[in-house]
Amino acid sequence: MAKIAVYPGSFDPVTNGHLDIIERSNNIFDKVIVAVFNNHTKKPLFEMEERVKMLKQAVKEYDSVEVDCFTGLLTTYLKQKEAKVIVRGLRAVSDFESEFQMASMNKKLASDIETIFMMTSTEYAYLSSSIVKEVASFEGCVRDLIPEFIIDRLFDRLRERDLLI
Ligand code: ADP
Repeated sequence: MAKIAVYPGSFDPVTNGHLDIIERSNNIFDKVIVAVFNNHTKKPLFEMEERVKMLKQAVKEYDSVEVDCFTGLLTTYLKQKEAKVIVRGLRAVSDFESEFQMASMNKKLASDIETIFMMTSTEYAYLSSSIVKEVASFEGCVRDLIPEFIIDRLFDRLRERDLLI
């Protein structure tokens, strides 16, 4: 049976830290589904469709990486996709608490699904979509932090939303 992993996240927008996790997961699993979800507690800068579109372009070199979106419970989504593994990235100790809570709850909801954690590559340990948006809002340089083709879109969106400081 093919080993399918789901890598869920907001990806608002996708960063080179996310792409590093995707590449490394692709080396382990037969298929990786990068699943964009709408987190209602966060107001996204990019709509779900735009995040999916950017991700598709960013991972187009990987034949066995698929990009999708979902709403609702992650464990229900995994069952639909016949996947047994959730991949998450860990940067700092501060990620641990919420990730531990989420993984424990998902285990309670679906005991046959495992969450595996990949330690960030040290060069991306400080990188998050939020800090990229913050730096860009001050017109700081975000080259090497996100894919090249997203840079202009990011500044355009911040300008449209009147978020450039
Ligand atoms: P969420 O809103 O669920 O935190 P994100 O889009 O911020 O979603 O991140 C999705 C996943 O990618 C999370 O597991 C997060 O820890 C991981 N991640 C984000 N940035 C990095 C990075 N620089 N290195 C490793 N993992 C990362």
